[in-house]
Amino acid sequence: MGLLDGRAAVITGAAQGIGFEIARALGAAGAPVLIGDLDGDAAWVAAERLRKEDIDAAAQRCDVTDEEDVSALVAECTERFGPVKVMVNNAGITRDATMRKMSPDDFRAVLDVHLTGAWNGTRYAAEVMRAHGGGSIVNISSIAGKVGNFGQTNYSAAKAGMVGLTKAAAKELARAGIRVNAVQPGLIRTAMTEAMPRAAWDAKLAEIPLGRAGEPAEVAQAVLFLASEMASYLTGAVLEVTGGRYM
Ligand code: NDP
Repeated sequence: MGLLDGRAAVITGAAQGIGFEIARALGAAGAPVLIGDLDGDAAWVAAERLRKEDIDAAAQRCDVTDEEDVSALVAECTERFGPVKVMVNNAGITRDATMRKMSPDDFRAVLDVHLTGAWNGTRYAAEVMRAHGGGSIVNISSIAGKVGNFGQTNYSAAKAGMVGLTKAAAKELARAGIRVNAVQPGLIRTAMTEAMPRAAWDAKLAEIPLGRAGEPAEVAQAVLFLASEMASYLTGAVLEVTGGRYM
């Protein structure tokens, strides 16, 4: 028996990076997984990769900032695999610049994808979970939401906002048997961080007690824990997956 046998999971932004590893970990634990991503073709390729690993996976193009797309993603899960039991709001972008140089559009775009996107995902998944005996929602925040990052006023604000969203939603949804938690990854090796200048990477590395960057699969294990009944008494929690950085 897997930790999530038969419990349908939807993961946004899962065509690559951390989201893909989350889909893989939940799938390996027995969940049928629906990958939503802005890039529909990449999502399809990702689902195909998982199917080759004997994971029951499907894909759908979804822009998390678009309510109709998110509603359709959750509906597709019901149709294909049954009502969503695990929702992971993972989709993300960065538009880094100091405040002096950041355009208002780049500020809003980052808030929209992370914060409005997670709100949309939480809201639509919760409606289905309410009607089908509960579930688990995991929001992928960032340690930037705890400490604030230079050059990331937009991202840090969005990721801190996701913590507030997680806690408020946890209070509203507890009576419906829905747990809502957040994960705050630190420096994780993905396309998003590999684009970083070498000096910035080395400076971050020096702050990590465990002395290395994390792997996407290590974030995925924390999400699997929160998604499963192993975390049955956790809601409104924020789990830091940072190798001890900014503890
Ligand atoms: P990636 O850029 O590798 O993956 C993010 C995915 O989200 C991409 O497939 C991207 O699609 C998709 N996406 C972007 N915008 C949207 C949208 N509007 N709707 C749906 N999908 C969208 O990032 P990571 O895997 O590194 O990050 C995943 C999450 O983890 C993010 O929320 C990030 O903020 C968070 N995080 C990452 C850390 C790290 O060190 N990597 C640290 C802390 C948090 P496309 O490529 O087509 O744009």
